[in-house]
Amino acid sequence: MMAKKRARASTKKRKKGSVKRRTWDPFEVAEKLAPTVATMLGLDSLGLSEEQTIELLRDLLVMMMGDRVTKPKPEVMVNAIKRNESKAFAIIASKLLEIMPEGKLTPEQAEFAMAYIGPFAVRFAPRLYKEAKRLGLDLGPLQASWEEAWRLSGDEGPVGFCPNCGFRAIAPDWTCMVCGKVLNDKEIREATDFQSKVQEFLENADCKALKELLDKGSVFVGHSTISLSRQSKWDIEIYLNKDEKVKVREAFRKKCTKDLDSILKKL
Ligand SMILES: [Zn+2]
Repeated sequence: MMAKKRARASTKKRKKGSVKRRTWDPFEVAEKLAPTVATMLGLDSLGLSEEQTIELLRDLLVMMMGDRVTKPKPEVMVNAIKRNESKAFAIIASKLLEIMPEGKLTPEQAEFAMAYIGPFAVRFAPRLYKEAKRLGLDLGPLQASWEEAWRLSGDEGPVGFCPNCGFRAIAPDWTCMVCGKVLNDKEIREATDFQSKVQEFLENADCKALKELLDKGSVFVGHSTISLSRQSKWDIEIYLNKDEKVKVREAFRKKCTKDLDSILKKL
Protein backbone atom coordinates (compact mmCIF):
# COMPACT_ATOMS: atom_id res chain seq x y z
CA MET A 1 0.00 0.00 0.00
CA MET A 2 2.83 2.39 0.86
CA ALA A 3 4.49 1.61 -2.47
CA LYS A 4 1.27 2.36 -4.30
CA LYS A 5 0.89 5.70 -2.53
CA ARG A 6 4.45 6.66 -3.33
CA ALA A 7 3.99 5.77 -6.97
CA ARG A 8 0.86 7.88 -7.17
CA ALA A 9 2.60 10.84 -5.53
CA SER A 10 5.50 10.71 -7.96
CA THR A 11 3.16 10.60 -10.98
CA LYS A 12 1.46 13.71 -9.69
CA LYS A 13 4.81 15.34 -9.21
CA ARG A 14 5.85 14.68 -12.75
CA LYS A 15 2.62 16.10 -14.08
CA LYS A 16 2.39 19.22 -11.98
CA GLY A 17 5.96 19.56 -10.86
CA SER A 18 4.99 21.33 -7.64
CA VAL A 19 3.48 18.71 -5.33
CA LYS A 20 5.38 18.56 -2.07
CA ARG A 21 6.23 15.21 -0.62
CA ARG A 22 6.03 14.23 2.99
CA THR A 23 9.48 14.17 4.52
CA TRP A 24 8.52 12.81 7.94
CA ASP A 25 7.34 9.48 9.29
CA PRO A 26 3.75 9.73 10.58
CA PHE A 27 4.27 7.00 13.18
CA GLU A 28 7.30 8.74 14.62
CA VAL A 29 5.52 12.10 14.72
CA ALA A 30 2.43 10.52 16.29
CA GLU A 31 4.55 8.99 19.03
CA LYS A 32 6.15 12.34 19.72
CA LEU A 33 2.82 14.17 19.80
CA ALA A 34 0.88 11.59 21.85
CA PRO A 35 1.80 12.69 25.41
CA THR A 36 1.07 16.38 24.69
CA VAL A 37 -2.17 15.59 22.88
CA ALA A 38 -3.23 13.32 25.77
CA THR A 39 -2.68 16.12 28.28
CA MET A 40 -4.57 18.61 26.11
CA LEU A 41 -7.50 16.17 25.85
CA GLY A 42 -7.57 15.69 29.63
CA LEU A 43 -6.53 12.06 29.38
CA ASP A 44 -3.88 12.33 32.12
CA SER A 45 -6.60 11.31 34.58
CA LEU A 46 -6.40 7.82 33.08
CA GLY A 47 -3.09 7.43 34.88
CA LEU A 48 -1.23 5.75 32.01
CA SER A 49 2.55 5.57 31.61
CA GLU A 50 4.12 7.48 28.74
CA GLU A 51 4.55 4.25 26.82
CA GLN A 52 0.87 3.35 27.31
CA THR A 53 -0.21 6.87 26.35
CA ILE A 54 1.72 6.57 23.10
CA GLU A 55 0.07 3.24 22.36
CA LEU A 56 -3.33 4.70 23.25
CA LEU A 57 -3.12 7.52 20.70
CA ARG A 58 -0.58 6.53 18.04
CA ASP A 59 -2.86 4.79 15.53
CA LEU A 60 -5.61 7.37 15.91
CA LEU A 61 -3.17 10.24 15.34
CA VAL A 62 -1.69 8.56 12.27
CA MET A 63 -5.20 8.05 10.91
CA MET A 64 -6.09 11.69 11.53
CA MET A 65 -2.94 12.92 9.81
CA GLY A 66 -4.20 11.34 6.62
CA ASP A 67 -2.29 12.60 3.60
CA ARG A 68 -1.24 15.81 5.27
CA VAL A 69 2.11 17.05 3.90
CA THR A 70 3.08 19.50 6.64
CA LYS A 71 4.00 18.11 10.02
CA PRO A 72 0.99 18.69 12.33
CA LYS A 73 1.17 20.60 15.61
CA PRO A 74 -0.49 19.11 18.69
CA GLU A 75 -3.27 21.77 18.62
CA VAL A 76 -4.19 20.73 15.09
CA MET A 77 -4.55 17.12 16.17
CA VAL A 78 -6.53 18.05 19.30
CA ASN A 79 -8.94 20.13 17.23
CA ALA A 80 -9.36 17.32 14.71
CA ILE A 81 -10.15 14.89 17.53
CA LYS A 82 -12.58 17.33 19.12
CA ARG A 83 -14.38 17.81 15.81
CA ASN A 84 -14.99 14.04 15.68
CA GLU A 85 -15.21 13.60 19.40
CA SER A 86 -17.66 10.72 19.73
CA LYS A 87 -15.94 8.61 17.09
CA ALA A 88 -12.39 9.47 18.17
CA PHE A 89 -13.11 8.89 21.87
CA ALA A 90 -14.77 5.56 21.08
CA ILE A 91 -11.55 4.51 19.35
CA ILE A 92 -9.50 5.73 22.33
CA ALA A 93 -11.78 3.86 24.76
CA SER A 94 -11.51 0.59 22.86
CA LYS A 95 -7.74 1.00 22.61
CA LEU A 96 -7.58 1.53 26.36
CA LEU A 97 -9.37 -1.80 26.84
CA GLU A 98 -6.83 -3.45 24.57
CA ILE A 99 -3.88 -1.99 26.46
CA MET A 100 -5.13 -2.77 29.96
CA PRO A 101 -5.33 -6.45 30.94
CA GLU A 102 -8.72 -7.79 32.00
CA GLY A 103 -9.53 -7.16 35.65
CA LYS A 104 -6.94 -4.38 35.88
CA LEU A 105 -8.86 -1.22 34.97
CA THR A 106 -8.82 1.57 37.54
CA PRO A 107 -12.18 3.18 38.40
CA GLU A 108 -11.24 6.23 36.26
CA GLN A 109 -10.35 4.04 33.29
CA ALA A 110 -13.52 1.95 33.59
CA GLU A 111 -15.70 5.05 33.89
CA PHE A 112 -14.01 6.61 30.85
CA ALA A 113 -14.47 3.44 28.78
CA MET A 114 -18.12 2.98 29.77
CA ALA A 115 -18.94 6.57 28.89
CA TYR A 116 -17.15 6.72 25.54
CA ILE A 117 -17.15 3.19 24.14
CA GLY A 118 -20.16 4.07 21.96
CA PRO A 119 -20.40 1.93 18.81
CA PHE A 120 -18.00 -0.68 20.24
CA ALA A 121 -20.18 -1.34 23.30
CA VAL A 122 -21.67 -4.51 21.83
CA ARG A 123 -18.22 -6.05 21.68
CA PHE A 124 -16.86 -4.72 24.97
CA ALA A 125 -19.93 -4.69 27.26
CA PRO A 126 -19.30 -8.13 28.82
CA ARG A 127 -15.77 -7.11 29.80
CA LEU A 128 -16.82 -3.68 31.03
CA TYR A 129 -19.72 -5.16 32.97
CA LYS A 130 -17.29 -7.40 34.88
CA GLU A 131 -14.90 -4.52 35.57
CA ALA A 132 -17.71 -2.24 36.74
CA LYS A 133 -19.09 -4.91 39.09
CA ARG A 134 -15.61 -5.52 40.48
CA LEU A 135 -15.14 -1.80 41.08
CA GLY A 136 -18.69 -1.20 42.32
CA LEU A 137 -19.43 1.41 39.62
CA ASP A 138 -22.78 2.64 38.33
CA LEU A 139 -23.79 0.67 35.22
CA GLY A 140 -25.97 3.47 33.82
CA PRO A 141 -23.37 4.89 31.39
CA LEU A 142 -22.56 1.42 30.03
CA GLN A 143 -26.26 0.72 29.52
CA ALA A 144 -26.60 3.98 27.62
CA SER A 145 -23.58 3.10 25.45
CA TRP A 146 -25.04 -0.37 24.83
CA GLU A 147 -28.33 1.09 23.58
CA GLU A 148 -26.49 3.71 21.53
CA ALA A 149 -24.38 1.01 19.88
CA TRP A 150 -27.48 -0.86 18.73
CA ARG A 151 -29.10 2.34 17.52
CA LEU A 152 -26.00 3.27 15.50
CA SER A 153 -25.70 -0.22 14.03
CA GLY A 154 -29.18 -0.03 12.52
CA ASP A 155 -29.89 -3.44 14.04
CA GLU A 156 -32.83 -3.55 16.42
CA GLY A 157 -30.84 -5.79 18.77
CA PRO A 158 -31.94 -8.28 21.41
CA VAL A 159 -35.47 -8.78 22.70
CA GLY A 160 -35.94 -8.64 26.43
CA PHE A 161 -34.24 -7.29 29.55
CA CYS A 162 -31.96 -9.41 31.70
CA PRO A 163 -33.24 -9.92 35.27
CA ASN A 164 -29.66 -10.03 36.52
CA CYS A 165 -27.86 -7.07 34.89
CA GLY A 166 -30.82 -5.08 33.52
CA PHE A 167 -29.43 -4.76 29.98
CA ARG A 168 -31.66 -5.38 26.97
CA ALA A 169 -29.46 -8.29 26.03
CA ILE A 170 -31.33 -11.60 25.92
CA ALA A 171 -30.09 -13.66 22.97
CA PRO A 172 -32.33 -16.16 21.14
CA ASP A 173 -30.67 -18.97 23.11
CA TRP A 174 -32.04 -17.48 26.37
CA THR A 175 -28.63 -16.28 27.62
CA CYS A 176 -27.67 -12.72 28.49
CA MET A 177 -25.10 -11.26 26.10
CA VAL A 178 -23.70 -8.96 28.81
CA CYS A 179 -23.58 -10.88 32.11
CA GLY A 180 -23.89 -14.42 30.75
CA LYS A 181 -26.92 -15.41 32.82
CA VAL A 182 -28.97 -18.32 31.42
CA LEU A 183 -32.67 -17.63 31.92
CA ASN A 184 -35.21 -20.24 33.03
CA ASP A 185 -38.83 -20.66 31.82
CA LYS A 186 -40.23 -18.17 34.28
CA GLU A 187 -37.49 -15.57 33.75
CA ILE A 188 -37.64 -15.65 29.97
CA ARG A 189 -41.37 -14.92 30.13
CA GLU A 190 -40.88 -11.94 32.42
CA ALA A 191 -37.88 -10.66 30.45
CA THR A 192 -39.81 -10.60 27.17
CA ASP A 193 -43.16 -9.42 28.55
CA PHE A 194 -44.53 -12.70 27.25
CA GLN A 195 -47.95 -12.84 28.94
CA SER A 196 -49.20 -9.53 27.59
CA LYS A 197 -47.91 -10.35 24.10
CA VAL A 198 -49.70 -13.71 24.21
CA GLN A 199 -52.85 -11.98 25.43
CA GLU A 200 -52.72 -9.54 22.55
CA PHE A 201 -52.08 -12.35 20.08
CA LEU A 202 -55.09 -14.31 21.36
CA GLU A 203 -57.30 -11.25 20.98
CA ASN A 204 -56.22 -10.51 17.43
CA ALA A 205 -55.52 -13.93 15.93
CA ASP A 206 -58.00 -15.53 13.54
CA CYS A 207 -59.19 -19.11 13.89
CA LYS A 208 -56.57 -20.40 11.49
CA ALA A 209 -53.73 -18.84 13.51
CA LEU A 210 -55.16 -20.10 16.80
CA LYS A 211 -55.46 -23.62 15.38
CA GLU A 212 -51.90 -23.42 14.09
CA LEU A 213 -50.66 -22.29 17.50
CA LEU A 214 -52.42 -25.23 19.18
CA ASP A 215 -50.83 -27.65 16.74
CA LYS A 216 -47.37 -26.12 16.93
CA GLY A 217 -47.16 -25.41 20.65
CA SER A 218 -44.51 -22.69 20.38
CA VAL A 219 -44.20 -19.05 19.34
CA PHE A 220 -41.46 -16.59 18.42
CA VAL A 221 -41.33 -13.56 20.69
CA GLY A 222 -40.26 -10.32 19.03
CA HIS A 223 -39.90 -6.76 20.31
CA SER A 224 -43.60 -5.95 20.29
CA THR A 225 -45.48 -9.08 19.27
CA ILE A 226 -45.34 -12.84 19.04
CA SER A 227 -45.52 -14.73 15.74
CA LEU A 228 -45.95 -18.30 14.60
CA SER A 229 -42.83 -18.12 12.45
CA ARG A 230 -39.48 -16.40 13.00
CA GLN A 231 -39.61 -12.72 11.95
CA SER A 232 -36.12 -11.65 13.04
CA LYS A 233 -32.88 -13.30 14.08
CA TRP A 234 -33.47 -11.88 17.57
CA ASP A 235 -36.84 -13.60 18.08
CA ILE A 236 -36.92 -15.92 21.06
CA GLU A 237 -38.77 -19.22 20.70
CA ILE A 238 -40.88 -20.16 23.70
CA TYR A 239 -42.93 -23.37 24.08
CA LEU A 240 -46.31 -22.81 25.65
CA ASN A 241 -46.75 -24.31 29.11
CA LYS A 242 -49.89 -26.09 30.30
CA ASP A 243 -51.70 -22.95 31.50
CA GLU A 244 -50.94 -21.08 28.30
CA LYS A 245 -52.23 -23.94 26.18
CA VAL A 246 -55.46 -23.89 28.17
CA LYS A 247 -55.80 -20.19 27.39
CA VAL A 248 -55.27 -20.75 23.67
CA ARG A 249 -57.84 -23.55 23.64
CA GLU A 250 -60.27 -21.31 25.49
CA ALA A 251 -59.71 -18.47 23.01
CA PHE A 252 -60.22 -20.87 20.13
CA ARG A 253 -63.41 -22.21 21.64
CA LYS A 254 -64.82 -18.72 22.22
CA LYS A 255 -63.86 -17.25 18.90
CA CYS A 256 -64.12 -20.17 16.53
CA THR A 257 -67.11 -22.12 17.72
CA LYS A 258 -69.35 -19.01 17.68
CA ASP A 259 -69.58 -19.17 13.91
CA LEU A 260 -70.55 -22.78 14.19
CA ASP A 261 -73.26 -21.92 16.70
CA SER A 262 -74.78 -19.27 14.48
CA ILE A 263 -74.70 -21.62 11.52
CA LEU A 264 -76.45 -24.28 13.60
CA LYS A 265 -79.06 -21.78 14.75
CA LYS A 266 -79.95 -20.86 11.20
CA LEU A 267 -80.55 -24.48 10.24
ZN1 LIG B 1 -27.51 -9.97 32.09
